[in-house]
Amino acid sequence: MKNIADLAVFGVQKLSPYQPGKPVAELERELGITNIVKLASNENPLGAPTSAVTAMQAVLSDIALYPDGSAFDLKAALAKNLSVATNQITVGNGSNELLDLVARVFLSSENNAVISQYAFLVYSIAVQSVGAELRVAEAKDFGHDLAAMAKLVDKNTRIIFIANPNNPTGTCLSISAIEHFIQSIPGDVIVVLDEAYHEYVTQVGYASGLTLLDRFPNLIVTRTFSKAYGLAGLRVGYCISSTVIADLLNRLREPFNVNALALAAAETVLHDAKYLQNSVETNSTGMKQLEDGLQALGLRFIPSAGNFIAVDFSRDAAFLYQAFLQEGIIVRPIAVYGMPTWLRVSIGLPEQNTRFLNSCRKVLSL
Ligand SMILES: *Cc1c(COP(=O)(O)O)cnc(C)c1O
Repeated sequence: MKNIADLAVFGVQKLSPYQPGKPVAELERELGITNIVKLASNENPLGAPTSAVTAMQAVLSDIALYPDGSAFDLKAALAKNLSVATNQITVGNGSNELLDLVARVFLSSENNAVISQYAFLVYSIAVQSVGAELRVAEAKDFGHDLAAMAKLVDKNTRIIFIANPNNPTGTCLSISAIEHFIQSIPGDVIVVLDEAYHEYVTQVGYASGLTLLDRFPNLIVTRTFSKAYGLAGLRVGYCISSTVIADLLNRLREPFNVNALALAAAETVLHDAKYLQNSVETNSTGMKQLEDGLQALGLRFIPSAGNFIAVDFSRDAAFLYQAFLQEGIIVRPIAVYGMPTWLRVSIGLPEQNTRFLNSCRKVLSL
């Protein structure tokens, strides 16, 4: 008789599960401490948007009913907001679901996908899960080297994933670089441009890939409500593409993939300009605070366009991670990305950033 683990399809046999940031409640249980600061999952430090909480309360009494599987209202609001057609939009259970859907629509064991070294881990899981070959281009200064990625494209390449900005490195590509890249590769290769941190980016030369959609029917731009919009716990994201791609994604999408509370909250927060502005301002102030603090400590970091920063401690970061936990601070080890001396730290509220910086001083002297 076969071992049950061997019955899994080949791609799944080789997978390692995604390691999320440690939940606050888990550390509370383990150490019996409170007043924990979690800077590990790039969540919004402002907490839930009040507007979204109110919107969810208003639909709570409807939860005996299935949600609107077509996400009509949310898509209409997004279409207006982004100046695209509703049939170019696909809504997902987090943008993670959409990344996975794209892989399932376009990849098989017969073809391959190209990503960059240090790219968001979800891409490699999505690619490998369907048995496709994963091609990883070496990064340049921790960022995507588009020329190196283009070199890995062959006749069997179906998808290229680009995270812009990238997580966990925070590096960001200019729109002209992305435009040249898409022009340079065959039109039958799908380019997934992951803009999970779009709302935070202030970098000169940056623009959303949405500006290229009209010219490139092979482009998919993914976005999320998990970061700047503060709805990570609800799981809702979206992507914008040509209608042909949206139709393909819609065939494979679960009929009710986004729940009713998430739909209501996302539609409401999309109009909550104040929350978004506060998110962005809190982030840029906090980023400056952390950069200054890290510099003062003599620690190297990668300038980040997102709501997090990768810091090089120049020693085994697994030990430091544990030391931060003892201080009640949860950060993110990124050894799985091949960065064993680095920790990724989400930008928090000013007092949380201060606590992290003070703890840096303490753990560095251990
Ligand atoms: C956080 C993140 C996402 C968003 O995931 P959701 O499933 O929408 O919560 C997508 N891509 C990257 C690069 C991220 O860091």
